[in-house]
Amino acid sequence: MCLFCKIINREIPSTIVYEDDTLFCFQDIRPVAPVHVLIVPKKHFDDILALSESAEGRKAYEDVLMALPKIAEITGTTEGFRFINNCREEGGQSVMHVHFHLIGGRKLGEKIL
Ligand code: AMP
Ligand code: ZN
Repeated sequence: MCLFCKIINREIPSTIVYEDDTLFCFQDIRPVAPVHVLIVPKKHFDDILALSESAEGRKAYEDVLMALPKIAEITGTTEGFRFINNCREEGGQSVMHVHFHLIGGRKLGEKIL
């Protein structure tokens, strides 16, 4: 079982920020900003490309989208945040269970594009 599946199953502890039937959101262990949470579909998909391949995957992506206002409210980032997916090795993905970083809580200046 992968690291994030273990976190979702509570076999590995995490600081949970939000949870519902399909999503698990918890604090990143190495935050790069005052708010840095990971939004993770509970069902295991390897990466964002895998999400596109099935109706279930596309629904998981929609679930993430629809949870964003709630997660922004909970984390106090309704004034703005950055939403990031690293895909596969060249994209810098280190945990092969699809997840999205929501980063904020300060003015984010260091844009790469
Ligand atoms: P990525 O590099 O995009 O795959 O993101 C993986 C993220 O998972 C990194 O930002 C790590 O800091 C984070 N991470 C790794 N292990 C844990 C853990 N046990 N609890 C919370 N976050 C973790
Ligand atoms: Zn997994």
